[in-house]
Amino acid sequence: MIPMAHSGRSDSVNSLAALNASRPELLYSGFSMANPKYAISDKPVPVSELVGTLSDGTKVKRRIPRMRACNEKDAKGKLCAGHLKRWYFFGDEVKQKFGAEAEIYRCERCKTLYLPSAEEVPRTGTLSY
Ligand SMILES: [Zn+2]
Repeated sequence: MIPMAHSGRSDSVNSLAALNASRPELLYSGFSMANPKYAISDKPVPVSELVGTLSDGTKVKRRIPRMRACNEKDAKGKLCAGHLKRWYFFGDEVKQKFGAEAEIYRCERCKTLYLPSAEEVPRTGTLSY
């Protein structure tokens, strides 16, 4: 009876294919084409993200690698493009948030503070490239 069971199984497969072929309304071609192959990569795009805002309203952002100019925009959407300079004169709030030895840069125009780029921070894992 075992060979019969085997042929019976292949019969059912054949009849299923025949069923699909003979009834085109059951051909869900769109369904079978929709290969759920999500190519979404969550690689971090280098954006100078806003890290926080100090109590006096000063923005703190993170630099992207080799960033030398401020990318803040004013109310009119104009790029600040001020020069980022190493800054040592931050107050206690910055020290509390980022450490007394924090590497801080400041835009000489709009005074936005910048932290070093994430590549210089020991937070590996997303840096496989
Ligand atoms: Zn600026």
